Amino acid sequence: MATHPTTCPLDCPDACGMLAETDASGALVKLVGNPAHPYSSGHLCGKTAIFRELQDSDARLVTPLVREGDRLVPATWDDALARIAERVAAVEPARVLSLGYAGNMGRLARKYPERVMNALGATATDGGVCDGEAILGHELVFGRAVGADLTRLAEAPALVVWGCDVARTLQHSLPRVRELCRAGKPVVVVDVHRGDTARRVERWGGRAVIVRPGSDAALLTALAREAFEQGCVDRDARAADCVGLDEYEASVRSGPTLDEAAAACGITLDEAGALHRLLATERAWVKAGIGWTRRRRGANAIRALACLVAVHGLEDRFHFESGDLFREHVTRIVRPDLRPAGVAPRVVEHVALGPALARGDYGAVFVWGHNPAVTLPDSISVRAGLSRDDCFVVVHELFLTETAALADVVLPAASFLEQTDVYTSYGHRCLQYTRRVVAPPGEARGNVDAFRAIGRALGLPEDVWRDDEEALARDLLAHLAQDLTGDDRARLERGEPVALPATPSADRGTPSGRIELVSEVAERRGGPRVPTPEAGDPPSAAPDGRLGESGRFQLHCAPSVHTHNSTYLHSPRHLARLGAPTCALHPDDARELGVVEGDAVTLSNARAALTLRARLSDDAPRGMVVVDGLFPSSATPEGLGLNALTGPIPGELGRGNSYYSTRVDVARAATPLAAAAALER
Ligand code: SF4
Repeated sequence: MATHPTTCPLDCPDACGMLAETDASGALVKLVGNPAHPYSSGHLCGKTAIFRELQDSDARLVTPLVREGDRLVPATWDDALARIAERVAAVEPARVLSLGYAGNMGRLARKYPERVMNALGATATDGGVCDGEAILGHELVFGRAVGADLTRLAEAPALVVWGCDVARTLQHSLPRVRELCRAGKPVVVVDVHRGDTARRVERWGGRAVIVRPGSDAALLTALAREAFEQGCVDRDARAADCVGLDEYEASVRSGPTLDEAAAACGITLDEAGALHRLLATERAWVKAGIGWTRRRRGANAIRALACLVAVHGLEDRFHFESGDLFREHVTRIVRPDLRPAGVAPRVVEHVALGPALARGDYGAVFVWGHNPAVTLPDSISVRAGLSRDDCFVVVHELFLTETAALADVVLPAASFLEQTDVYTSYGHRCLQYTRRVVAPPGEARGNVDAFRAIGRALGLPEDVWRDDEEALARDLLAHLAQDLTGDDRARLERGEPVALPATPSADRGTPSGRIELVSEVAERRGGPRVPTPEAGDPPSAAPDGRLGESGRFQLHCAPSVHTHNSTYLHSPRHLARLGAPTCALHPDDARELGVVEGDAVTLSNARAALTLRARLSDDAPRGMVVVDGLFPSSATPEGLGLNALTGPIPGELGRGNSYYSTRVDVARAATPLAAAAALER
């Protein structure tokens, strides 16, 4: 039996340290948490603890597949690469789309394929599908993320969790939240529905404040007004650290009062007052999530939160999930200098790809670490685009996902245990160098190996594909570990997790180098200089004319407890835990609709209709329908996933996704739920 340190590669801020145990034959026996990891401390979530279900699955792709008419048939790598070279040579570079995402968060697995795409002259996306609004809104005020260290969360005197279901998306912080509650420190969770964290914190003696969706900016502006009116702002210190204090103050003083905002948000004045006291008196830490910004005005809302934190002088107690925690220079991997002369970089909106693909803007698409047919908004258009005869699609994947099934060439991928990589995190500051633990099955290849082969087949310069994953990892590590001691470097070399020193907040990276309460960058992008208190969504125009933003109910997709991404839909054990897809409705809404527990209900808007099973729960506020996580399209009678209902409409300022601006009507359905029932067996 041997033990190998490794890292969870999933798109999760915890980036847990793990130990992989292998038997005498080198086969994987199990994965356990690495107790030496300073943040995850030896615990794994239930999703990854049984990752072996996926790792050893018979459904893994083990040989390349190429399209012959309606079928994908096995081929050799040489045949598949020759087909790629022939078809891509006929496509002008700007019509080649580079479409990778976060299926494997290893820095090389995620970023090296971009080097090849860049050297080809391909069009890239802005990657805004997850957090485009949040990142821009945060950057406008604070620049780089240099705030609180989550490993020390239990030291906080008080805590405000804003729009983050910690229990589902930041699991290793939950015991620290419980510790705070048990120590009698005030904890308040602000969310749009009573999720797992809100419920647990209430049980532990804390408080949940449930606001109307999209109303946060009004409350945050009113809290800032209250700070000024109550004399809670250290003006000299703030004027030194922040740009635009006077203009910001004038703006918030003309905004809503605390009781006006409380009414707009559907909360009590007492709840709003409690939030003010936590910031002004208790000097609370503030943990901001990402999900609550997935709205048309998401960047404005997180900007309002960042400004409020800044006027209280709490910026070093603010935690935002960001890759900036590592100051990583991804250019070392991507190598923009390898772009062909005369082919300017071209970046398109990730969120709006559906209509672009469907109208035939791209002659070739390369996909890795991504399942766009499921996870992008307007999934019906995405599928239509990827199915076009004049769009040549290459997918590098572990399983025959819904995207891979539409491809012209499918390349079998190695799992994270089968490749060497370097892992950072967007939640904490632990770095890990993780070597291959087991060999890939069949002819599967890691991301670096697969895309090096593609680069060679496409006739790209040797600089693009010369270095293997070991050489690339060493170069990246030398850069990331430059501030580490010799001891720490030796630990990294042994695969141990090593925490980097906190980055200094003096170097913010905003245009002024200071905190920007007033932003000229926002103004140049067509936004307001100061975040506004407006609630709700601005009027919009969808590229295809169909909005999906009207309807009686807000559609709220919550992160799944049992599956992490769509790869997990290929594990029967994870699927069984997930169960049949359901949607939660408030019992009063259900009564008005004539719906009882377990009824089939159809969610519909201008984009699509989808039938799920109703679950009645007063954790879902009135006027909201809550769906847990992703489910296979085959689990609905319509054969569609949730993103058939969401629109390709970017957020106003950050151009990120606006999933939570989606609205639907809900009605009792006559459609039987046979497919869903099959999942429960
Ligand atoms: S999904 Fe997140 S919590 Fe679970 S093991 Fe991976 S990093 Fe840890």
